[in-house]
Amino acid sequence: MKTIDKIYINGAFVTPKGTDLFNLISPTTNEKLGEVRLGNEEDTQNAIAAAKKAFVSFSKTTITERIGYLKSMQNAVRDRKEDLINVMVEEYGGTLQFATNGYSFLLQNFESAITVLESYQFTKTIGASEVQMAPIGVVGIIIPWNSSNGFISSKLASAIAAGCTAVIKPSEMSAMQTQIMAECLHEAGLPKGVFNIVNGLGTTVGAEITRHPDIAKISFTGSTVVGKLIAREATDTLKRVTLELGGKSPNIILDDADFATAIPMAIMAAYMNSGQACVAGTRLLVPEYRLEEVKGLIKSTLEHTKVGDPKESDTNVGPMVSQKQYQRVQDYIKIGIEEGAEVLVGGLGKPEGLEKGNFVKPTVFVNVNNQMRIAREEIFGPVLSVLTYKTEEEAIEIANDTTYGLQAYVSSTDTKRAHDVASKINAGRVLINVLKHDPLAPFGGFKQSGMGREFGVLGLEAYLEPRTLLQ
Ligand code: NAD
Repeated sequence: MKTIDKIYINGAFVTPKGTDLFNLISPTTNEKLGEVRLGNEEDTQNAIAAAKKAFVSFSKTTITERIGYLKSMQNAVRDRKEDLINVMVEEYGGTLQFATNGYSFLLQNFESAITVLESYQFTKTIGASEVQMAPIGVVGIIIPWNSSNGFISSKLASAIAAGCTAVIKPSEMSAMQTQIMAECLHEAGLPKGVFNIVNGLGTTVGAEITRHPDIAKISFTGSTVVGKLIAREATDTLKRVTLELGGKSPNIILDDADFATAIPMAIMAAYMNSGQACVAGTRLLVPEYRLEEVKGLIKSTLEHTKVGDPKESDTNVGPMVSQKQYQRVQDYIKIGIEEGAEVLVGGLGKPEGLEKGNFVKPTVFVNVNNQMRIAREEIFGPVLSVLTYKTEEEAIEIANDTTYGLQAYVSSTDTKRAHDVASKINAGRVLINVLKHDPLAPFGGFKQSGMGREFGVLGLEAYLEPRTLLQ
């Protein structure tokens, strides 16, 4: 049993003023792992005050100094590799495969921020003016539970690179992961108040960050519903807002694709992070005349997809993070059946032998049309909808017929054709014949998948304000 009863403010682990306790429950066994003491509004105000004070000098640091801090953060994270991976498996139920992969992104986030800093021009000449890119101020970082430390590292690395200070509010369900990350960042020896971390609920800590006049910008990753709420609230103080929200990503398999490679890859795209991924490719679009072949390939791929204990290195799909999330996925499978879609694999209930945890059966629906709720709404679990198309134009039309636009996938053996199709998809990122991340390219959503971009130069500029000097 772990008790997390400290938050991190002004360079120190302190006892929060808030006294409410929140149980940390294992997604794998539903046994209690520990509890976290939650911060309240006053704790948030103290964290914001510390970040505001630190901003005065941190905003004036040189590029070399910031690179030094980013390197120290990276080194501290490198020293705790096993702990960071294991805690994600234990507390979140992320598979060892996913947590290990996620750990390498975590390190890479610091590296990318350094790379951008090394060549970024903070002072430019535009027209007849000198334009200074100035750090925006104190940043509020509000993040979800599905890759908690990954989000802390990517957002904080950009904020530090820009010369900003930060108050971070992770999900209350990620307290054990947050604790280890906070210990790493503490080790890195940044000046007091540059980053502060407050465990707490969205409606208390998150809401205080959103309304507080001393927060200049919010970088939020989470659901579209909460993102809209934050954007609305932030208007009162005209905070800058970057929103990374949900998705219902289409995966177009063109008729000339190598199906034996593309279909197993499509299953990986749908079930990555046990389906709890904003970029999951959850709408698989296949040529109508090849549907039977696709069904066969899906079934044979799923025979080799292991659901189970996330600690085991060959597990592909772990439990859902909470009983609530488990129930949400069950509800959607039920909705799909009621809408008339056909369950090709999986279905309702828990897989045999895995009754204790929040495990769902990886599920694939066929006979889905794009108006069904299982094709339109983000489920956030291992549920894939297969849709068919007759022509390439129809495939693009279906792909774009969504309120979301975070990511899309295209497979074809003809790279020019795939490139042309990808260029017609309304999504922030389109992956062609690969499952990859580019840490220097912009990432973010079209439409209701978000606002603004993260990573690379555009990601850095989201933490800067241009100041034009004309004489
Ligand atoms: P969520 O929106 O419920 O919560 C996200 C964060 O916002 C949490 O820290 C939460 O406490 C906080 N919050 C909740 N209410 C708030 C309020 N009123 N004011 C301020 N903060 C508040 O999301 P979740 O359930 O934790 O995560 C799943 C969602 O995140 C999915 O919809 C998924 O698509 C999305 N997501 C998006 C990306 C992306 O990069 N686009 C990445 C991962 C997850």
